[in-house]
Amino acid sequence: MTPDLPLRAAIVGAGPSGFYTADQLLKAGFEVDVYDALPTPFGLVRAGVAPDHPKIKSVIRVYTKTATHEAFRFFGGVALGTDISREELTARYHAVVYAFGTATDNRLGIPGEDRPGSYPATSFVAWYNGHPHFADHMFELHGGRAVVVGNGNVAIDVARMLVLDPSELAATDTADHAIEAFGAAGVTEVVLLGRRGPAEAAFTNPELRELGELERADVIVDPAALADIAEVEDATRRRNVEILREYAARPPAGKSHRLELRFLRSPLEILGVGEDGPVTGVRVGINRLVTDGDGRVRAQATGEEEMIECGLVLRSIGYRGERVAGIPFDERRGLIANAEGRVTADGTPCPGEYAVGWIKRGPSGVIGTNKKDAADTVARITEDAEAGRLGVPDPELADATAVSAWLHERVPGHVTWDGWELIDAHESRLGEAEGRPRVKLVSLEELQRVGRGE
Ligand code: NAP
Repeated sequence: MTPDLPLRAAIVGAGPSGFYTADQLLKAGFEVDVYDALPTPFGLVRAGVAPDHPKIKSVIRVYTKTATHEAFRFFGGVALGTDISREELTARYHAVVYAFGTATDNRLGIPGEDRPGSYPATSFVAWYNGHPHFADHMFELHGGRAVVVGNGNVAIDVARMLVLDPSELAATDTADHAIEAFGAAGVTEVVLLGRRGPAEAAFTNPELRELGELERADVIVDPAALADIAEVEDATRRRNVEILREYAARPPAGKSHRLELRFLRSPLEILGVGEDGPVTGVRVGINRLVTDGDGRVRAQATGEEEMIECGLVLRSIGYRGERVAGIPFDERRGLIANAEGRVTADGTPCPGEYAVGWIKRGPSGVIGTNKKDAADTVARITEDAEAGRLGVPDPELADATAVSAWLHERVPGHVTWDGWELIDAHESRLGEAEGRPRVKLVSLEELQRVGRGE
Protein backbone atom coordinates (compact mmCIF):
# COMPACT_ATOMS: atom_id res chain seq x y z
CA MET A 1 0.00 0.00 0.00
CA THR A 2 1.17 3.55 -0.67
CA PRO A 3 1.87 5.42 2.61
CA ASP A 4 -0.70 8.11 3.59
CA LEU A 5 -3.01 7.23 0.70
CA PRO A 6 -6.31 5.53 1.45
CA LEU A 7 -7.00 2.45 -0.67
CA ARG A 8 -8.48 3.70 -3.92
CA ALA A 9 -10.24 1.79 -6.70
CA ALA A 10 -11.40 2.71 -10.19
CA ILE A 11 -14.27 0.75 -11.68
CA VAL A 12 -14.67 1.03 -15.43
CA GLY A 13 -18.32 0.49 -16.31
CA ALA A 14 -21.34 1.68 -14.32
CA GLY A 15 -23.61 -1.29 -15.02
CA PRO A 16 -24.83 -3.86 -12.49
CA SER A 17 -21.46 -5.59 -11.98
CA GLY A 18 -19.73 -2.20 -11.61
CA PHE A 19 -22.24 -1.04 -9.00
CA TYR A 20 -22.18 -4.29 -6.99
CA THR A 21 -18.37 -4.10 -7.00
CA ALA A 22 -18.49 -0.44 -5.93
CA ASP A 23 -20.82 -1.25 -3.05
CA GLN A 24 -18.63 -4.07 -1.79
CA LEU A 25 -15.37 -2.14 -2.16
CA LEU A 26 -16.87 0.82 -0.28
CA LYS A 27 -17.83 -1.59 2.52
CA ALA A 28 -14.24 -2.89 2.48
CA GLY A 29 -12.99 0.66 3.09
CA PHE A 30 -11.93 1.68 -0.43
CA GLU A 31 -12.58 5.04 -2.03
CA VAL A 32 -14.29 4.28 -5.34
CA ASP A 33 -14.38 6.21 -8.60
CA VAL A 34 -16.74 4.71 -11.21
CA TYR A 35 -16.07 5.61 -14.84
CA ASP A 36 -18.42 5.09 -17.76
CA ALA A 37 -18.08 5.86 -21.46
CA LEU A 38 -21.63 7.25 -21.39
CA PRO A 39 -22.68 10.33 -19.41
CA THR A 40 -25.34 8.13 -17.76
CA PRO A 41 -24.94 5.25 -15.28
CA PHE A 42 -26.56 1.78 -15.03
CA GLY A 43 -25.28 0.10 -18.23
CA LEU A 44 -27.64 -2.58 -19.48
CA VAL A 45 -30.29 -1.69 -16.89
CA ARG A 46 -30.76 1.54 -18.80
CA ALA A 47 -29.75 0.41 -22.30
CA GLY A 48 -30.51 -3.33 -22.34
CA VAL A 49 -33.45 -4.30 -20.11
CA ALA A 50 -36.64 -4.21 -22.17
CA PRO A 51 -38.57 -0.96 -21.64
CA ASP A 52 -41.79 -2.86 -20.91
CA HIS A 53 -40.07 -4.46 -17.88
CA PRO A 54 -39.95 -1.49 -15.48
CA LYS A 55 -39.88 -3.77 -12.41
CA ILE A 56 -36.50 -5.17 -13.46
CA LYS A 57 -35.22 -1.61 -13.83
CA SER A 58 -36.22 -0.74 -10.24
CA VAL A 59 -32.87 -2.24 -9.13
CA ILE A 60 -31.54 1.22 -10.01
CA ARG A 61 -32.68 2.25 -6.51
CA VAL A 62 -30.09 -0.08 -4.98
CA TYR A 63 -27.32 1.40 -7.15
CA THR A 64 -28.45 4.93 -6.37
CA LYS A 65 -28.11 4.15 -2.66
CA THR A 66 -24.53 2.98 -3.25
CA ALA A 67 -23.85 6.29 -4.97
CA THR A 68 -24.80 8.24 -1.82
CA HIS A 69 -21.71 6.89 -0.01
CA GLU A 70 -19.30 9.75 0.66
CA ALA A 71 -16.37 7.84 -0.84
CA PHE A 72 -18.22 7.18 -4.14
CA ARG A 73 -17.72 9.31 -7.25
CA PHE A 74 -19.00 8.95 -10.82
CA PHE A 75 -17.22 10.15 -13.96
CA GLY A 76 -19.56 9.68 -16.92
CA GLY A 77 -18.65 10.34 -20.52
CA VAL A 78 -15.08 9.14 -19.99
CA ALA A 79 -14.13 6.30 -22.32
CA LEU A 80 -11.24 4.01 -21.48
CA GLY A 81 -9.08 3.55 -24.57
CA THR A 82 -9.98 6.87 -26.18
CA ASP A 83 -10.32 9.56 -23.48
CA ILE A 84 -8.02 7.91 -20.94
CA SER A 85 -5.61 5.00 -21.00
CA ARG A 86 -5.15 1.86 -18.95
CA GLU A 87 -1.74 3.15 -17.76
CA GLU A 88 -3.26 6.43 -16.58
CA LEU A 89 -5.66 4.48 -14.39
CA THR A 90 -3.10 2.03 -12.98
CA ALA A 91 -0.92 5.05 -12.08
CA ARG A 92 -3.78 6.48 -10.00
CA TYR A 93 -5.45 3.54 -8.22
CA HIS A 94 -4.50 0.54 -6.09
CA ALA A 95 -7.16 -1.47 -7.91
CA VAL A 96 -8.65 -0.98 -11.37
CA VAL A 97 -11.70 -3.15 -11.99
CA TYR A 98 -12.94 -3.62 -15.55
CA ALA A 99 -16.72 -3.95 -15.60
CA PHE A 100 -17.47 -2.82 -19.14
CA GLY A 101 -19.45 -5.85 -20.26
CA THR A 102 -19.54 -7.47 -23.67
CA ALA A 103 -20.37 -4.75 -26.14
CA THR A 104 -20.60 -6.53 -29.46
CA ASP A 105 -22.46 -9.45 -31.04
CA ASN A 106 -21.63 -13.01 -32.07
CA ARG A 107 -21.80 -13.56 -35.82
CA LEU A 108 -23.65 -16.31 -37.65
CA GLY A 109 -20.96 -16.38 -40.35
CA ILE A 110 -23.43 -16.96 -43.19
CA PRO A 111 -23.90 -15.22 -46.54
CA GLY A 112 -26.16 -12.17 -46.52
CA GLU A 113 -25.69 -11.49 -42.80
CA ASP A 114 -25.06 -7.77 -43.36
CA ARG A 115 -27.82 -7.02 -45.84
CA PRO A 116 -30.05 -4.05 -45.00
CA GLY A 117 -32.81 -5.50 -42.86
CA SER A 118 -30.52 -8.02 -41.06
CA TYR A 119 -29.27 -6.66 -37.75
CA PRO A 120 -27.65 -7.86 -34.54
CA ALA A 121 -30.07 -7.78 -31.62
CA THR A 122 -27.35 -6.13 -29.53
CA SER A 123 -27.57 -2.92 -31.62
CA PHE A 124 -31.32 -3.18 -32.03
CA VAL A 125 -31.83 -3.39 -28.26
CA ALA A 126 -29.45 -0.46 -27.70
CA TRP A 127 -31.33 1.55 -30.34
CA TYR A 128 -34.82 1.06 -28.92
CA ASN A 129 -33.46 1.79 -25.46
CA GLY A 130 -32.04 5.16 -26.55
CA HIS A 131 -28.32 4.33 -26.24
CA PRO A 132 -26.72 7.51 -27.66
CA HIS A 133 -24.20 5.56 -29.80
CA PHE A 134 -27.07 3.81 -31.59
CA ALA A 135 -29.70 6.55 -31.75
CA ASP A 136 -28.77 7.46 -35.33
CA HIS A 137 -28.63 3.87 -36.61
CA MET A 138 -31.00 3.28 -39.46
CA PHE A 139 -33.01 0.11 -38.94
CA GLU A 140 -35.08 -0.71 -41.98
CA LEU A 141 -38.09 -2.21 -40.28
CA HIS A 142 -40.28 -3.76 -42.90
CA GLY A 143 -43.79 -4.82 -42.08
CA GLY A 144 -45.07 -8.33 -42.47
CA ARG A 145 -42.85 -11.12 -41.15
CA ALA A 146 -39.69 -10.78 -39.05
CA VAL A 147 -37.32 -13.63 -38.16
CA VAL A 148 -35.49 -13.59 -34.84
CA VAL A 149 -32.56 -16.02 -34.63
CA GLY A 150 -31.69 -17.43 -31.18
CA ASN A 151 -33.46 -18.93 -28.22
CA GLY A 152 -32.33 -16.74 -25.33
CA ASN A 153 -34.07 -14.03 -23.35
CA VAL A 154 -32.78 -11.29 -25.65
CA ALA A 155 -34.49 -13.04 -28.58
CA ILE A 156 -37.70 -13.07 -26.54
CA ASP A 157 -37.30 -9.38 -25.69
CA VAL A 158 -36.90 -8.28 -29.31
CA ALA A 159 -39.70 -10.59 -30.53
CA ARG A 160 -42.04 -9.16 -27.89
CA MET A 161 -41.09 -5.56 -28.62
CA LEU A 162 -41.94 -6.12 -32.29
CA VAL A 163 -45.51 -7.17 -31.55
CA LEU A 164 -46.40 -4.88 -28.63
CA ASP A 165 -49.24 -2.51 -29.33
CA PRO A 166 -48.11 1.12 -29.86
CA SER A 167 -50.25 2.09 -26.86
CA GLU A 168 -48.30 -0.39 -24.69
CA LEU A 169 -44.99 1.06 -25.92
CA ALA A 170 -46.20 4.62 -25.41
CA ALA A 171 -46.38 4.06 -21.66
CA THR A 172 -42.71 2.99 -21.45
CA ASP A 173 -39.33 4.72 -21.70
CA THR A 174 -38.68 3.24 -25.16
CA ALA A 175 -36.77 5.84 -27.18
CA ASP A 176 -39.14 8.11 -29.09
CA HIS A 177 -37.44 7.32 -32.42
CA ALA A 178 -38.11 3.60 -31.86
CA ILE A 179 -41.76 4.04 -30.85
CA GLU A 180 -42.30 5.90 -34.08
CA ALA A 181 -40.42 3.34 -36.19
CA PHE A 182 -42.21 0.33 -34.62
CA GLY A 183 -45.57 1.96 -35.29
CA ALA A 184 -44.68 2.75 -38.91
CA ALA A 185 -43.20 -0.69 -39.65
CA GLY A 186 -46.24 -2.73 -38.78
CA VAL A 187 -44.61 -6.15 -38.22
CA THR A 188 -47.48 -8.62 -37.90
CA GLU A 189 -45.64 -11.91 -37.55
CA VAL A 190 -42.45 -12.95 -35.79
CA VAL A 191 -40.78 -16.34 -36.24
CA LEU A 192 -38.27 -17.20 -33.53
CA LEU A 193 -35.70 -19.79 -34.63
CA GLY A 194 -33.88 -22.12 -32.24
CA ARG A 195 -31.07 -24.27 -33.63
CA ARG A 196 -31.72 -26.92 -30.96
CA GLY A 197 -34.97 -28.17 -29.44
CA PRO A 198 -37.50 -26.89 -26.86
CA ALA A 199 -35.63 -28.61 -24.01
CA GLU A 200 -32.36 -26.85 -24.94
CA ALA A 201 -33.74 -23.30 -25.20
CA ALA A 202 -32.00 -20.75 -22.95
CA PHE A 203 -35.21 -18.87 -22.04
CA THR A 204 -36.09 -18.36 -18.40
CA ASN A 205 -39.62 -19.36 -17.37
CA PRO A 206 -41.23 -15.95 -16.67
CA GLU A 207 -39.97 -14.56 -20.00
CA LEU A 208 -41.31 -17.54 -21.96
CA ARG A 209 -44.62 -17.41 -20.06
CA GLU A 210 -45.02 -13.72 -20.89
CA LEU A 211 -45.18 -14.58 -24.61
CA GLY A 212 -48.43 -16.40 -23.96
CA GLU A 213 -49.94 -13.29 -22.38
CA LEU A 214 -49.36 -10.85 -25.23
CA GLU A 215 -52.33 -8.65 -25.89
CA ARG A 216 -52.29 -8.75 -29.65
CA ALA A 217 -50.22 -11.80 -30.63
CA ASP A 218 -51.12 -15.49 -30.68
CA VAL A 219 -48.18 -17.68 -29.72
CA ILE A 220 -47.76 -20.64 -32.05
CA VAL A 221 -45.79 -23.83 -31.42
CA ASP A 222 -45.98 -26.96 -33.58
CA PRO A 223 -46.96 -29.88 -31.28
CA ALA A 224 -44.67 -32.15 -33.33
CA ALA A 225 -41.65 -30.22 -31.99
CA LEU A 226 -42.49 -31.48 -28.50
CA ALA A 227 -43.40 -35.05 -29.34
CA ASP A 228 -40.09 -36.83 -28.70
CA ILE A 229 -38.86 -35.09 -25.59
CA ALA A 230 -37.95 -37.48 -22.81
CA GLU A 231 -37.29 -36.57 -19.17
CA VAL A 232 -35.72 -33.10 -18.79
CA GLU A 233 -33.49 -32.92 -15.73
CA ASP A 234 -32.93 -29.18 -15.39
CA ALA A 235 -35.94 -27.58 -13.64
CA THR A 236 -36.00 -24.37 -15.72
CA ARG A 237 -35.81 -26.28 -18.97
CA ARG A 238 -38.41 -28.81 -17.82
CA ARG A 239 -40.78 -25.95 -17.03
CA ASN A 240 -39.99 -24.35 -20.42
CA VAL A 241 -41.08 -27.56 -22.12
CA GLU A 242 -44.31 -27.57 -20.08
CA ILE A 243 -45.04 -23.97 -21.06
CA LEU A 244 -44.34 -24.75 -24.72
CA ARG A 245 -46.69 -27.77 -24.49
CA GLU A 246 -49.41 -25.44 -23.21
CA TYR A 247 -48.77 -23.16 -26.21
CA ALA A 248 -48.82 -26.05 -28.67
CA ALA A 249 -52.18 -27.21 -27.32
CA ARG A 250 -53.70 -23.73 -27.39
CA PRO A 251 -55.88 -22.90 -30.40
CA PRO A 252 -55.02 -19.47 -31.87
CA ALA A 253 -57.42 -16.82 -30.60
CA GLY A 254 -57.41 -14.97 -33.94
CA LYS A 255 -55.35 -12.03 -32.66
CA SER A 256 -53.98 -9.57 -35.19
CA HIS A 257 -50.36 -10.75 -34.72
CA ARG A 258 -48.55 -14.12 -34.56
CA LEU A 259 -45.43 -15.10 -32.74
CA GLU A 260 -44.18 -18.54 -33.71
CA LEU A 261 -41.43 -20.53 -31.99
CA ARG A 262 -39.78 -22.87 -34.49
CA PHE A 263 -37.14 -25.32 -33.29
CA LEU A 264 -34.30 -27.33 -34.90
CA ARG A 265 -33.69 -24.60 -37.45
CA SER A 266 -30.36 -22.96 -38.41
CA PRO A 267 -30.19 -20.05 -40.84
CA LEU A 268 -27.91 -20.95 -43.77
CA GLU A 269 -28.25 -17.77 -45.81
CA ILE A 270 -30.00 -14.42 -45.54
CA LEU A 271 -31.60 -13.91 -48.94
CA GLY A 272 -32.28 -10.57 -50.53
CA VAL A 273 -32.42 -8.36 -53.55
CA GLY A 274 -29.25 -8.68 -55.64
CA GLU A 275 -25.87 -9.17 -54.01
CA ASP A 276 -26.29 -6.78 -51.10
CA GLY A 277 -29.85 -5.46 -51.35
CA PRO A 278 -32.57 -5.66 -48.70
CA VAL A 279 -33.59 -8.88 -46.97
CA THR A 280 -36.35 -10.92 -48.59
CA GLY A 281 -36.05 -14.16 -46.63
CA VAL A 282 -33.95 -16.75 -44.85
CA ARG A 283 -32.81 -20.13 -46.17
CA VAL A 284 -33.00 -22.39 -43.16
CA GLY A 285 -31.46 -25.81 -42.51
CA ILE A 286 -33.43 -28.35 -40.51
CA ASN A 287 -31.51 -30.06 -37.71
CA ARG A 288 -31.73 -33.17 -35.59
CA LEU A 289 -30.31 -33.48 -32.09
CA VAL A 290 -27.28 -35.65 -31.35
CA THR A 291 -25.60 -36.21 -28.00
CA ASP A 292 -21.82 -35.91 -27.93
CA GLY A 293 -19.51 -38.10 -25.86
CA ASP A 294 -19.44 -35.44 -23.15
CA GLY A 295 -23.24 -35.48 -22.91
CA ARG A 296 -23.78 -32.16 -24.68
CA VAL A 297 -26.82 -32.11 -26.97
CA ARG A 298 -25.82 -30.65 -30.33
CA ALA A 299 -27.71 -29.64 -33.47
CA GLN A 300 -26.74 -31.64 -36.54
CA ALA A 301 -27.92 -30.70 -40.05
CA THR A 302 -30.26 -33.22 -41.67
CA GLY A 303 -29.64 -31.74 -45.13
CA GLU A 304 -33.31 -30.73 -45.41
CA GLU A 305 -34.06 -27.07 -45.91
CA GLU A 306 -36.94 -24.62 -45.88
CA MET A 307 -37.41 -20.99 -46.89
CA ILE A 308 -38.94 -18.31 -44.73
CA GLU A 309 -39.93 -15.11 -46.48
CA CYS A 310 -39.40 -12.03 -44.35
CA GLY A 311 -38.32 -8.39 -44.49
CA LEU A 312 -36.40 -8.25 -41.22
CA VAL A 313 -33.89 -10.55 -39.50
CA LEU A 314 -32.65 -9.97 -35.97
CA ARG A 315 -29.68 -12.10 -34.97
CA SER A 316 -29.82 -12.72 -31.24
CA ILE A 317 -27.14 -15.34 -30.66
CA GLY A 318 -25.28 -13.85 -27.73
CA TYR A 319 -22.99 -10.97 -26.89
CA ARG A 320 -19.20 -10.91 -27.21
CA GLY A 321 -16.54 -8.81 -25.50
CA GLU A 322 -14.14 -6.51 -27.32
CA ARG A 323 -10.46 -5.91 -26.75
CA VAL A 324 -10.08 -2.54 -25.00
CA ALA A 325 -7.05 -0.36 -24.25
CA GLY A 326 -4.45 -3.15 -24.46
CA ILE A 327 -5.96 -5.08 -21.56
CA PRO A 328 -5.01 -8.78 -21.95
CA PHE A 329 -7.78 -10.45 -23.93
CA ASP A 330 -8.78 -14.07 -24.42
CA GLU A 331 -9.72 -14.03 -28.12
CA ARG A 332 -11.29 -17.50 -28.05
CA ARG A 333 -13.74 -16.66 -25.27
CA GLY A 334 -14.12 -12.98 -26.20
CA LEU A 335 -13.36 -11.94 -22.60
CA ILE A 336 -10.61 -10.24 -20.60
CA ALA A 337 -7.96 -12.85 -19.81
CA ASN A 338 -8.46 -13.48 -16.10
CA ALA A 339 -8.15 -16.04 -13.34
CA GLU A 340 -11.07 -15.74 -10.90
CA GLY A 341 -11.28 -12.02 -11.67
CA ARG A 342 -7.52 -11.25 -11.54
CA VAL A 343 -6.47 -9.97 -14.97
CA THR A 344 -3.67 -12.17 -16.31
CA ALA A 345 -1.08 -11.73 -19.05
CA ASP A 346 0.20 -15.10 -20.27
CA GLY A 347 -1.22 -16.66 -17.12
CA THR A 348 0.52 -14.24 -14.72
CA PRO A 349 -1.65 -11.80 -12.69
CA CYS A 350 -1.30 -8.11 -13.57
CA PRO A 351 -1.05 -6.51 -10.10
CA GLY A 352 -3.96 -4.21 -9.29
CA GLU A 353 -6.11 -5.11 -12.31
CA TYR A 354 -9.35 -7.06 -12.08
CA ALA A 355 -12.40 -7.99 -14.13
CA VAL A 356 -16.01 -8.48 -13.10
CA GLY A 357 -19.36 -9.26 -14.71
CA TRP A 358 -19.86 -10.26 -18.34
CA ILE A 359 -16.37 -9.21 -19.49
CA LYS A 360 -14.98 -11.59 -16.81
CA ARG A 361 -17.24 -14.64 -17.13
CA GLY A 362 -19.23 -14.16 -20.36
CA PRO A 363 -22.73 -12.87 -21.10
CA SER A 364 -24.75 -15.13 -18.84
CA GLY A 365 -27.15 -15.03 -15.92
CA VAL A 366 -29.56 -12.38 -14.74
CA ILE A 367 -28.79 -9.00 -13.13
CA GLY A 368 -28.52 -10.49 -9.64
CA THR A 369 -25.90 -13.01 -10.81
CA ASN A 370 -23.48 -10.09 -10.90
CA LYS A 371 -23.76 -9.54 -7.15
CA LYS A 372 -22.14 -12.87 -6.35
CA ASP A 373 -19.70 -12.39 -9.23
CA ALA A 374 -18.70 -9.01 -7.78
CA ALA A 375 -18.27 -10.58 -4.33
CA ASP A 376 -15.84 -13.12 -5.84
CA THR A 377 -13.73 -10.43 -7.51
CA VAL A 378 -13.80 -8.20 -4.41
CA ALA A 379 -12.63 -11.18 -2.32
CA ARG A 380 -9.57 -11.45 -4.62
CA ILE A 381 -8.95 -7.70 -4.24
CA THR A 382 -9.09 -7.81 -0.45
CA GLU A 383 -6.86 -10.91 -0.39
CA ASP A 384 -4.36 -9.03 -2.56
CA ALA A 385 -4.65 -5.95 -0.31
CA GLU A 386 -3.75 -8.07 2.72
CA ALA A 387 -0.89 -9.77 0.88
CA GLY A 388 0.54 -6.45 -0.43
CA ARG A 389 -0.19 -7.43 -4.03
CA LEU A 390 -2.31 -4.48 -5.17
CA GLY A 391 -1.14 -1.93 -7.71
CA VAL A 392 1.22 0.85 -6.60
CA PRO A 393 -0.17 4.22 -7.68
CA ASP A 394 1.89 7.38 -7.97
CA PRO A 395 1.07 9.35 -4.78
CA GLU A 396 1.30 12.67 -6.65
CA LEU A 397 -1.42 11.61 -9.08
CA ALA A 398 -3.57 9.36 -6.99
CA ASP A 399 -5.44 11.34 -4.37
CA ALA A 400 -9.06 12.20 -5.07
CA THR A 401 -8.41 15.89 -5.71
CA ALA A 402 -5.57 15.19 -8.15
CA VAL A 403 -7.81 12.77 -10.07
CA SER A 404 -10.58 15.39 -10.34
CA ALA A 405 -8.09 17.98 -11.60
CA TRP A 406 -6.69 15.54 -14.17
CA LEU A 407 -10.19 14.70 -15.48
CA HIS A 408 -11.28 18.33 -15.62
CA GLU A 409 -8.37 19.01 -17.89
CA ARG A 410 -8.47 15.77 -19.87
CA VAL A 411 -12.24 15.29 -20.37
CA PRO A 412 -13.83 18.67 -19.63
CA GLY A 413 -17.30 17.48 -20.73
CA HIS A 414 -17.52 14.65 -18.20
CA VAL A 415 -20.62 14.25 -16.06
CA THR A 416 -20.48 13.64 -12.31
CA TRP A 417 -23.16 12.05 -10.11
CA ASP A 418 -24.69 15.47 -9.49
CA GLY A 419 -24.85 15.88 -13.26
CA TRP A 420 -26.58 12.52 -13.63
CA GLU A 421 -29.16 13.64 -11.05
CA LEU A 422 -29.89 16.67 -13.23
CA ILE A 423 -30.33 14.42 -16.29
CA ASP A 424 -32.52 12.04 -14.29
CA ALA A 425 -34.75 14.88 -13.05
CA HIS A 426 -34.99 16.35 -16.55
CA GLU A 427 -35.94 13.01 -18.17
CA SER A 428 -38.42 12.21 -15.41
CA ARG A 429 -40.07 15.61 -15.79
CA LEU A 430 -40.46 15.08 -19.54
CA GLY A 431 -41.90 11.61 -18.83
CA GLU A 432 -44.36 12.85 -16.22
CA ALA A 433 -45.99 15.11 -18.78
CA GLU A 434 -46.65 12.05 -20.97
CA GLY A 435 -47.49 9.49 -18.27
CA ARG A 436 -44.19 7.66 -18.85
CA PRO A 437 -41.40 6.81 -16.38
CA ARG A 438 -39.05 9.08 -18.33
CA VAL A 439 -38.33 10.37 -21.80
CA LYS A 440 -34.72 9.49 -22.52
CA LEU A 441 -32.31 12.01 -23.94
CA VAL A 442 -30.50 10.19 -26.72
CA SER A 443 -27.89 12.69 -27.90
CA LEU A 444 -24.53 12.82 -26.17
CA GLU A 445 -24.37 16.60 -26.56
CA GLU A 446 -27.76 17.09 -24.93
CA LEU A 447 -26.96 14.67 -22.10
CA GLN A 448 -23.72 16.52 -21.41
CA ARG A 449 -25.38 19.91 -21.60
CA VAL A 450 -28.15 18.94 -19.16
CA GLY A 451 -25.59 17.12 -16.98
CA ARG A 452 -23.59 20.34 -16.68
CA GLY A 453 -26.71 22.20 -15.57
CA GLU A 454 -26.92 24.30 -18.74
P1 NAP B 1 -28.19 -16.61 -24.38
O1 NAP B 1 -29.13 -16.82 -23.27
O2 NAP B 1 -26.82 -17.16 -24.23
O3 NAP B 1 -28.86 -17.21 -25.71
C1 NAP B 1 -28.16 -17.27 -26.91
C2 NAP B 1 -28.94 -18.11 -27.89
O4 NAP B 1 -28.28 -18.04 -29.15
C3 NAP B 1 -29.02 -19.60 -27.53
O5 NAP B 1 -30.30 -20.06 -27.82
C4 NAP B 1 -27.97 -20.22 -28.45
O6 NAP B 1 -28.26 -21.56 -28.81
C5 NAP B 1 -28.16 -19.36 -29.68
N1 NAP B 1 -27.03 -19.42 -30.59
C6 NAP B 1 -25.72 -19.20 -30.33
N2 NAP B 1 -24.99 -19.34 -31.45
C7 NAP B 1 -25.86 -19.65 -32.44
C8 NAP B 1 -25.72 -19.91 -33.81
N3 NAP B 1 -24.52 -19.87 -34.41
N4 NAP B 1 -26.83 -20.21 -34.53
C9 NAP B 1 -28.04 -20.25 -33.95
N5 NAP B 1 -28.25 -20.02 -32.64
C10 NAP B 1 -27.16 -19.71 -31.89
O7 NAP B 1 -27.95 -15.07 -24.72
P2 NAP B 1 -28.90 -13.79 -24.73
O8 NAP B 1 -30.26 -14.09 -25.12
O9 NAP B 1 -28.09 -12.79 -25.50
O10 NAP B 1 -28.92 -13.34 -23.21
C11 NAP B 1 -27.72 -13.01 -22.50
C12 NAP B 1 -27.97 -13.12 -21.00
O11 NAP B 1 -28.83 -12.07 -20.58
C13 NAP B 1 -28.66 -14.43 -20.62
O12 NAP B 1 -28.13 -14.89 -19.42
C14 NAP B 1 -30.10 -14.00 -20.45
O13 NAP B 1 -30.85 -14.83 -19.59
C15 NAP B 1 -29.92 -12.61 -19.88
N6 NAP B 1 -31.15 -11.82 -20.11
C16 NAP B 1 -32.11 -11.86 -19.17
C17 NAP B 1 -33.30 -11.19 -19.37
C18 NAP B 1 -34.37 -11.26 -18.30
O14 NAP B 1 -34.12 -11.78 -17.24
N7 NAP B 1 -35.56 -10.77 -18.57
C19 NAP B 1 -33.52 -10.48 -20.54
C20 NAP B 1 -32.53 -10.46 -21.51
C21 NAP B 1 -31.33 -11.14 -21.28
P3 NAP B 1 -27.46 -22.79 -28.15
O15 NAP B 1 -28.03 -22.95 -26.80
O16 NAP B 1 -27.76 -23.90 -29.08
O17 NAP B 1 -26.00 -22.39 -28.13
